[in-house]
Amino acid sequence: MTQARFARYILLLGAFTVLPAAAAAQTAAPSSDARLILVTIDGVRWQDLFRGADPELAADKAQTKKAAEVHDRYIAPADRPRALAPFLHSFPQRGGVLIGNRDQGSCMRVANRYWFSYPGYSEMLTGRVGWANSNAPVDNPDTTVLEWLNRQPGYAGHVRVFATWAVFPAIVNAKRSGIPVNAGLVPLPGNDPEIAALNKVQNDLPRPWNLDERYDALTHAFGLRSLMADAPRVLHVAYGEPDAHAHAGAYDEYLIATERADRFARELWDAAQADPAWAGRTTLIVTTDHGRGELGPLKDGWRHHGSGLDEAGMQHPERARTGSDQSWAAILGPAPLVAEAAPGVCATASQIAATALQALGFDRSRYDPRSAPPLVRPVGE
Ligand SMILES: [Zn+2]
Repeated sequence: MTQARFARYILLLGAFTVLPAAAAAQTAAPSSDARLILVTIDGVRWQDLFRGADPELAADKAQTKKAAEVHDRYIAPADRPRALAPFLHSFPQRGGVLIGNRDQGSCMRVANRYWFSYPGYSEMLTGRVGWANSNAPVDNPDTTVLEWLNRQPGYAGHVRVFATWAVFPAIVNAKRSGIPVNAGLVPLPGNDPEIAALNKVQNDLPRPWNLDERYDALTHAFGLRSLMADAPRVLHVAYGEPDAHAHAGAYDEYLIATERADRFARELWDAAQADPAWAGRTTLIVTTDHGRGELGPLKDGWRHHGSGLDEAGMQHPERARTGSDQSWAAILGPAPLVAEAAPGVCATASQIAATALQALGFDRSRYDPRSAPPLVRPVGE
């Protein structure tokens, strides 16, 4: 190495040694102690959420076995949307927003081309349409906002994920991100008596419908306990039962599971408001990973979802479920919010990532300049 080269090398070295410090300054912890709860409910239709339970499906004995119960709980009440999801429908009164009521000109969809779960969750958590193209439990090469947050000062070690579906450790790449993800039928590590009791119940219960899923009640119990005991700053609780019941063609169970998930979201919110560490500084985002197909002539098109595109890029028109790209979101913050809806533009699931970052005081450009913009802004900004 010549003298001049060595000097250049030192200069370069200097430039590089300065970089981490500059990067650290850029990503310093936000001044606020903001917190985030992300709740996802797999495969809930905007039609049920905003119109209430469908009277035609509720009266179809093949798809609604518990006809009397469904009628009393979801069809008879004057306000059917509120009968199904009372907590989500309270968001506007609490200063939050609901997005995706197409009957009132609000629109949301997934931007990915697949319209099933892994691509949907990856899109919302990375802020863009990336690599995901199947539901196989393959570690996500894309970096989610959860992983990025888990590297930020003040957030490192304070991100938790609890999921009904066993594929979540792959979606958030638990191995690389270091985020503790408890999902599927895996017991939660830990010695405290509450964890031991929950693990035992999980192990002793009969297996639910799919071998890679557990009951949402268990996901919820683990998630709620974590909120109060683990001091996370970012908590993602991913419920899955509505989708499983829908695929099975059980509209009654799908509705009941949707109402239950709404109640679970309320319990998380109420627990946060009762805890000084969370109260007044928490944003709650509730959303879904995809919609469901149009009813069709046999009235059963709602059961499934997907665009018909497979992971090899082949289109299978017979599997396509029109309308299953349609989604929704509900957002509630410590201060009143307003939707960032441009006229005629349909919001996308990819905007969830920046919405989460904004709630925590981060600009999405620091995370990934390719990520889509937030869904909401604080009133007056
Ligand atoms: Zn599904």
